[in-house]
Amino acid sequence: MRSKVSSSSPSQQQLSLVSPPVFAGVCRCFVGVSRCRSDPRGPQWTGYAAVMSSLLLLLLPLFILTPTTALEFRYHRNGEIEKYLRDISTSNPDIAHVYSIGRSVRGQQLWVLVLSLSPRHHSIGIPEFKYVANMHGNEVLGRVLLLQLIDDLVRGHRNKEAWSVQLLNSTRIHILPTMNPDGFDDAGTHCQFSQGRFNHNGVDLNRNFPDAFAGKRQQGQFVEETQEAEVRAVIGWLRSETFVLSANLHGGALVASYPYDNSNGGSEQVGGASVTPDNDVFVHLAKVYSYNHGSMHRGDSCKDGLSFNDGITNGYQWYALKGGMQDYNYVWAQCLEVTLEVSCCKFPPKDQLPALWTENREALLAFIRQVHLGVKGRVFDSFGVPVQNAVVEVKGRSNICLFRTDKHGEYYRLLLPGNYTFTVTYPGHQVLTETLDVPHGPDRYSALKHDFLLRRAADNSTHYTPTEFSPTPTCNYTLNVEGRCGAVATPTWTGVSAALGLWAALRFLSD
Ligand SMILES: [Zn+2]
Repeated sequence: MRSKVSSSSPSQQQLSLVSPPVFAGVCRCFVGVSRCRSDPRGPQWTGYAAVMSSLLLLLLPLFILTPTTALEFRYHRNGEIEKYLRDISTSNPDIAHVYSIGRSVRGQQLWVLVLSLSPRHHSIGIPEFKYVANMHGNEVLGRVLLLQLIDDLVRGHRNKEAWSVQLLNSTRIHILPTMNPDGFDDAGTHCQFSQGRFNHNGVDLNRNFPDAFAGKRQQGQFVEETQEAEVRAVIGWLRSETFVLSANLHGGALVASYPYDNSNGGSEQVGGASVTPDNDVFVHLAKVYSYNHGSMHRGDSCKDGLSFNDGITNGYQWYALKGGMQDYNYVWAQCLEVTLEVSCCKFPPKDQLPALWTENREALLAFIRQVHLGVKGRVFDSFGVPVQNAVVEVKGRSNICLFRTDKHGEYYRLLLPGNYTFTVTYPGHQVLTETLDVPHGPDRYSALKHDFLLRRAADNSTHYTPTEFSPTPTCNYTLNVEGRCGAVATPTWTGVSAALGLWAALRFLSD
């Protein structure tokens, strides 16, 4: 399961020897040297310039062979991260673009850098991917890893390295290095303590998202304005882009954790886990990370008594939590998100950062490529027009909120190789059922492309409408209305979580 990335891509050290700097302001330009020959300051000056030119030409190979200024391994302050992202965007406008998704409670911008051949706009058929780090302000390795990842991808693309070119040609990658900059500013550097974990209001952001298992009554209490600023920013972000795959980087353990994090004691509970309809895909995604990581797959690397088979776990099976971000991404935004615990120590000493980057680099790249699993395409109505909100279901996978086409009429469905029966429904059109043979997409940097062409219903008898159908996709866009979510019976909160809540509290400091 090891990624081929490492064998085909140069090491960080090799890259730094041959690549141009990606930090703006580091200049190695010698273009002006030859122009001194016609300098008006006279022949003596010209002769001096010629000697200097020759000297510089002799020294040029030494400059080129000197390692370029790679991104320093240290904990950059929030302002430094902003400058770095802006510099990358300015220096590489063809592949990079920086934008903010909102502000923290103390008003700090939540900056995102997007890397893609089309950095400013979505392109049809190009899946949107995202990485988020530093949601807990004192879990800081993710910030470092994502900045190094940006540095690596940009440098690789500039050097026309296949591993980077293919990734940016096929994928739009959004990177949010810090979701909780206020918490980072307050963070202690202890390995296990929680100083800086919360946002400025003392709220744990990974408990502040609307929860699909909270039941109708509690769902009805969610009013967006009452969510924390950082959470509202992420919810708005999920509305603005149709993300397909995502990971959220934490620290304090070494494991890839996948949904669900919560349960209401219904049929989702299997053997102590709370499993999604896409559990096979989630297990695969988590293993891609753990087995491409230097040690995560061994499962016992933190030596704290906890062991995880293959270095992965179902979130609920580890410990239950309400209001987590990965459940929200999956249930409400049809984005498969995994929570990556990337370091036993929440605030690793600075001198360990290069080794920790080496441990995580292949895994970070291999995980992005999984956005090309499964099938993608558009749904067209009887006039050949792409339609929004068409329901695209896969037999045997009843999502709480049905997956629907976006404003471009696109759908993306992450699936492992195999045969799958799709059902597509749209008002006024016949139900369309097709079976597709799905190959392994990541090797080709593309999911199987398949468009669904709908036919107009002859009469109402053939017009099937899902019971929950609404012309607007309520699961994705509305938080505070009861009973709007999905084909599966709306979950009801049973109170089973009381004991789980106690367990969660005990585990509170360890994620
Ligand atoms: Zn955390």
